[in-house]
Amino acid sequence: MKSVCTYCGVGCEIDAKIQDDKIVKIKPVKDGISSGGELCIKGRYGFEFLNNRLKKHLINYKFIKKNAPNMPLELQVRLANLTPYNENFYEAPLSLAVDITAWKLKEIIKNFSSHSIACIGGARTSIESAWFFQHFARKVLKTPHIDNCARVCHGPSLSGLKMSIGEGASSVDFDAIFDTEVIFIIGSNTTEAHPMVASRIIKAKKRGAKIIIADVREIPVMKFADIKVILPFESNLLFLNAIAKELIENNLIDEEFIKNRCVKFEDYKNLLLHDKYDKHFFEKLNGFKQIKTKIEEIAKIITKKTIFVWGLGVTEHIDGTEAVNAISNLAMLTGNIGKNGAGVLPLRGQNNVQGACDVGCLPYYGPDYQIPEEIGLMTPDVIEEMLKGKIKALVNMGEDILHIHPNQNKIKKAFENLEFLAVLEVMENEITKKADIVFGVKSAYEKSGVYINAERRLHLSNPLIESDLPDDWEILQKIANRFDNIFNFSSSEEVFEVVRKEVKRFEGATYERLKEKSLQWPIDKNGNDSPILHTQNFSTPDGKGHFHYHKYHLRGEVKDLVENKKRWWLNTGRALPQYNNAAQTKHSDKLSKRYGDDILLVNPIHKNEIGEFVKLKSVYGESAPVKVKFSESVRPYTLFTTFHFAKNKINYLFGDAHDHKVKTARFKAVEVEIINVD
Ligand code: SF4
Repeated sequence: MKSVCTYCGVGCEIDAKIQDDKIVKIKPVKDGISSGGELCIKGRYGFEFLNNRLKKHLINYKFIKKNAPNMPLELQVRLANLTPYNENFYEAPLSLAVDITAWKLKEIIKNFSSHSIACIGGARTSIESAWFFQHFARKVLKTPHIDNCARVCHGPSLSGLKMSIGEGASSVDFDAIFDTEVIFIIGSNTTEAHPMVASRIIKAKKRGAKIIIADVREIPVMKFADIKVILPFESNLLFLNAIAKELIENNLIDEEFIKNRCVKFEDYKNLLLHDKYDKHFFEKLNGFKQIKTKIEEIAKIITKKTIFVWGLGVTEHIDGTEAVNAISNLAMLTGNIGKNGAGVLPLRGQNNVQGACDVGCLPYYGPDYQIPEEIGLMTPDVIEEMLKGKIKALVNMGEDILHIHPNQNKIKKAFENLEFLAVLEVMENEITKKADIVFGVKSAYEKSGVYINAERRLHLSNPLIESDLPDDWEILQKIANRFDNIFNFSSSEEVFEVVRKEVKRFEGATYERLKEKSLQWPIDKNGNDSPILHTQNFSTPDGKGHFHYHKYHLRGEVKDLVENKKRWWLNTGRALPQYNNAAQTKHSDKLSKRYGDDILLVNPIHKNEIGEFVKLKSVYGESAPVKVKFSESVRPYTLFTTFHFAKNKINYLFGDAHDHKVKTARFKAVEVEIINVD
């Protein structure tokens, strides 16, 4: 049996051993293209959640108490004799959960407006369900407010790349790592977040590639770095611009490429050359003086064939879009794009976040990045409108907003104002606890569907085991059919046939072809795919690569360093054994034994002032007590922890600060106080 691991944007091919319709073992597919024939521990053991998965559809007691008197008599009758599920929910037959959801959504549209409903989610389920979700929002509910979890991760990669090269996606495939001379990694904890990409990087190093790694802390992949740069918090743009200036001042640029393939270079150059935040600025920063010399070395090395790799360490900042754009500038300055072994490779986190964006689960793009009839609200604005009481209902598909989004104190208040919350989920989690209706849905191991990984690769995933539960799109179809729209899809393949017509980049990706092999978009009608983008022209309207200059603004830890202040700064990220809100992975003993709770890393020089457990406090909220581990991997006065376990309330510490353009939260830096806990 062959399918796809959905625990990260690598999308490794998996093979399962099945006994009595249960998965007993997952193994790598030896000739797996994305996996390279290996799997990390999440891929191997992440299926163990299936014993603890949500198996029912649920209706909240309180919702029934408040709403039953207003329901049509026919629904009221069907509510009698439901079986209790737990202290908050009844089990409900699917048809009843669907009918009540449709009734309530119609009531909200009648009493308020269609625009008082928002739909959020779609990056973890299949393309078929993600496409149906945005179609359901726009065409059935008639609301423009549709968004997905790219809002809290790689939204800036899409916006930053789109404005310079016209396509918000990797320009190369993962295996290009074997064809390059230099791999420049910034803000990506690759070994933990994208293990099978890290495995390629380590092999490439053995074959002679040079590895440059920049991050705010010592991360495991740095063991393999030829040049390692530890940056102050929030200095990516400063660092990237400084490299660009070094390239131009020393005539290390690819003039031919810039002349033939790019525009706006002179404007960019003039602004950049007058930028005071260059390599010399680092000389003024105590502890970071050596970055000047590293910038000089890096500028020389990246004139060779280079792949630029980044993750959330670049995007989750107030200047995430600008920093992505600055990476794109480096690729264009050195002519390192549109060629084999040279390009940009944003490592997208969720298994189908590329796909959810491609099919239009975004408020400002419809399927195939077409501008929709009406632009909707981004998730942070949806939350604001919930607080004001203007958004009355939320349909949520696989995104635990009540855990993974920032400013949880505010979000919890906003959710109290909702009249209706319907959730489609595989696991019970923070958002299902607050839902009025919960639909249990098939997991990726139980259904057919297409997933698109971080190298634009469409994988057709096959069910490994049977499940009585419906797919997300089947539930949405049933609800939609209670409105005026009649859908008759009887399989994921039928849905995908419609998606292929709307999303031109998938045109030739039939199920038949995808059964043979995975394909990278754009895929022409004959099934020819595209491992490398931008070989002749960029995807911008004029076909050119556009330079944009973005000035760095002094703030945060860098400002503290200039002013010689000592304040605590917190940065968060992931640990290899757990996945996002850990709703699935915490049910695997093998994974939880390796990492079963969030741990706070603190530099050992603070040993005398910090105890075994501490709480963190910011202007936005307070965490629960977390265990401290002293580690040289973080610098003095900087902290790192993961956000996997809801009970630790780590995301209560982050607030409304977000990317200027696409509102991705500033998860990579918040000033905190430390409170010792006895
Ligand atoms: Fe799954 Fe990602 Fe690990 Fe591959 S690298 S096995 S996709 S978690």
